[in-house]
Amino acid sequence: MFARQKLYEGKAKIIYATDDPEILLAHFKDDATAFNAQKRGQIAGKGEMNCAISSHLFQHLESAGIATHWIDRPAPNELRVRSVQIIPLEVVVRNIAAGSLCQQTGLELGTVLPHPLVDFYYKNDALGDPLLTRDRLLLLQLATSEQVDQLQTLALQINQILSAFFQECNITLVDFKLEFGLANQGQLLLADEISPDTCRLWNQSETDPNLRILDKDRFRRDLGNIEAAYHEVMERVLAHAPQS
Ligand code: UDP
Repeated sequence: MFARQKLYEGKAKIIYATDDPEILLAHFKDDATAFNAQKRGQIAGKGEMNCAISSHLFQHLESAGIATHWIDRPAPNELRVRSVQIIPLEVVVRNIAAGSLCQQTGLELGTVLPHPLVDFYYKNDALGDPLLTRDRLLLLQLATSEQVDQLQTLALQINQILSAFFQECNITLVDFKLEFGLANQGQLLLADEISPDTCRLWNQSETDPNLRILDKDRFRRDLGNIEAAYHEVMERVLAHAPQS
């Protein structure tokens, strides 16, 4: 067995090359970071759980007609994915006010938004991932005007599909972050991961505002029972067939 060629190591994943230049391996780590990596820790079993959840959700999105980088899951904590050039944008979709939206607007936590909101952030750790306006995004040439429209439309479609899926799991999809990339033919693909690290997920069986949290806010806010929350999400997600 040859040592694998590591192409990139991020906060939560390692990307390896394969024999095929069009295919990469994404290895999910147990490492957890928050607040632009100022808070660091480990969540036992997170790599496998996030890999299983992401794999299932990508498969579900594919079956609903969304083009993603997902190919398959050859190991519990590894996804085979199509190689893409990541667009340096974090595309956040919000259904309910939480996190930075509350801090920046004064909206009360839990306010149901009249329609989903799409926010673009500059994926740039040195700058602290700032919120962008459309004009700033175009100024920095992070995407073309057509791509911004395409990203907005895709993000809203993905929100509809995922919100309906999580609803069946008795989970409210509060908000989530997406990343997109361009494959070598220029095709726009949904990339990265979709997991409790990148989504706010509230358990509909709980009314208590802290007990209902099933996502990385448990780590960010030291709420405890992090592994159990991620496990709960995984069990509910895997119990629903991706095609449903
Ligand atoms: N998010 C993420 N990575 C980031 C920033 C945000 O996955 O670098 C997710 C986060 O988990 C939440 C959504 O995007 O589901 C909106 O996050 P928000 O802007 O409220 O920032 P936060 O309050 O998490 O700092």
